[in-house]
Amino acid sequence: MYKNCERSWIQIRRKEIIALLFIILIEILFIISNISFLSSLYKDSVKNSLRDNVFIISNLIKEYDKQKYQKIFKNSDVRFNIIHEDGVVIYDSKKYDKEYELENHGARKEVLALQNNEMGFDIRKSSVSDEVTAYYAEKEINKDGETIIVRVSKSYGSTQKILRVILLAEILFFTLLNIVIHSFYKNYLKRDVYRKIEIIEKYLKDEGRGGTLYFEKDPWILNLWDIVQKWQEKNLENIVELNREKRILHQIITSIDASICLFDDRFKLIIKNTRFNYLYEKDKMSYLDLIKDIEIIDIMKRTIEQKQNQKSEVYIPRLKRYFSVNIKFLDQDQRYLLSVKDITQTKGMIEVQKTFISNISHELKTPLTNIKGYVIALEDAPELLKLQFIKTIKNNIDKLENIIVDFLNITKIESSKIVNIEKISVERLKMELNLALSERIKSSGALITYNLNLLNKHGELNIDFEKVLTIIKNLVENAIVYRGSKIPEIEISIIETKSKYKIGIKDNGIGMAPEDVEKIFERFYRVDKARTSNKAGTGLGLSIVKELVEICGGKIDVLSKEGKGSIFIFTILK
Ligand code: ADP
Repeated sequence: MYKNCERSWIQIRRKEIIALLFIILIEILFIISNISFLSSLYKDSVKNSLRDNVFIISNLIKEYDKQKYQKIFKNSDVRFNIIHEDGVVIYDSKKYDKEYELENHGARKEVLALQNNEMGFDIRKSSVSDEVTAYYAEKEINKDGETIIVRVSKSYGSTQKILRVILLAEILFFTLLNIVIHSFYKNYLKRDVYRKIEIIEKYLKDEGRGGTLYFEKDPWILNLWDIVQKWQEKNLENIVELNREKRILHQIITSIDASICLFDDRFKLIIKNTRFNYLYEKDKMSYLDLIKDIEIIDIMKRTIEQKQNQKSEVYIPRLKRYFSVNIKFLDQDQRYLLSVKDITQTKGMIEVQKTFISNISHELKTPLTNIKGYVIALEDAPELLKLQFIKTIKNNIDKLENIIVDFLNITKIESSKIVNIEKISVERLKMELNLALSERIKSSGALITYNLNLLNKHGELNIDFEKVLTIIKNLVENAIVYRGSKIPEIEISIIETKSKYKIGIKDNGIGMAPEDVEKIFERFYRVDKARTSNKAGTGLGLSIVKELVEICGGKIDVLSKEGKGSIFIFTILK
């Protein structure tokens, strides 16, 4: 595109130079023809004047002798000769009485021309006066009846000088004329280009509403216009692309789970995301006005002073929350990118995990210490106690196993929170439950009854079978374990509504005190009395149940009365 423009520009230059050379050629031709015309005009006039002189002289020499016309021509600027036919100079008005000094004039051009019956006229440098001179000669008869040649001559130098001056004047005139024309032409071109550019500018400012543009057949302007248009098209494409990227960037920034802002070292806020507005007021433009928390301002000031990235965790008392503050120094732009992320929950989770790990270690340590102690004691124990010891060791191994199973369950729940709903018959649920708890049911003599109130006649459930089975299994197991001295009577009720199932596990067990009911869903919480009645318990079962119920989109509640029994009711979404 630019090459095209360059090419047409060179073409214009070339055309301009050719036009200029053509004009100069015409001017030179004009000067040559003018000068040659003037020179022939002058020649003719000199010739005519000399011829007139010859005519007068011819009459003179017919009547007068040398002395007489010497008197007349002595002071005249016209030189007059009388030459014999053989070329001997008989008389010379400028060399009177010294004619013998003059060489023979027979070879002079004008004399030779007369011999050949041509006009005797010549212009050349005189050997006598050393000047350019015009000569005119004619054959005449003198008063003695002899044929002589009368020759008159006159200086032609002044005429040549005039011609030279005219030539110079003409050259000067045309040179000046060319310069003037050229500068006018350049100016005109410049103004023309400006005018066209102004039109383009107006057109562009008017966003093309000015109608169609016509630039005649000017290739340079057309090319320029072409470049402008293509450039504009490219710009528009870039703007569209930039807008798209801006939109994506905006979406990314707004979807980031942190308050983000860009500020400069004069504390001016350049950009901030919407989440930032939740943290602080909307319209403040300086972060010093906007950010009220000295903990964050301190870090920002430090970054500006040190021009280095900063990262730290702060507790903001105003909000009673923990934040991770991250400031990146963008050295290319001399700007700072601040991101503030609420990490209270993560921090809480880390704390919970830490407590969980320390609790689980503690829970594992107790049965292990017991096992170790009883194994050592077993070696020297009397036969009677040995069976008792082995029973205790077995109980502790059961406890270890339960802790590990519960721990694995928790890890499994946390790693996958996907609900997998499937169609399952109540019969299958009953069967799987009996299979899982067969030993406990057998040893306790538990009586399990079902109270079903389902919307479909086929006894089908739309549930995440694995999760619901784990929930019911844990609750029924507890109902058996915490039965006290009674034979457990357990009622499982399932009520189906349009959107959910309401499932209840009712027992006639030992029940719980109200202060325990509040805590039983916490991890590792065990009612004191339970420790004695269920030595293998971990205190994790109900926390697993609660978490599974919540994953299924439901809630769990418990109603309990000490010594009477408990009922656990939970809902799950379909
Ligand atoms: P674990 O059974 O391993 O001790 P759980 O989380 O399953 O742990 O139960 C926590 C506590 O709640 C138990 O220690 C027990 O005291 C009490 N509990 C649970 N279910 C019942 C129930 N059906 N009847 C009486 N107490 C119960």
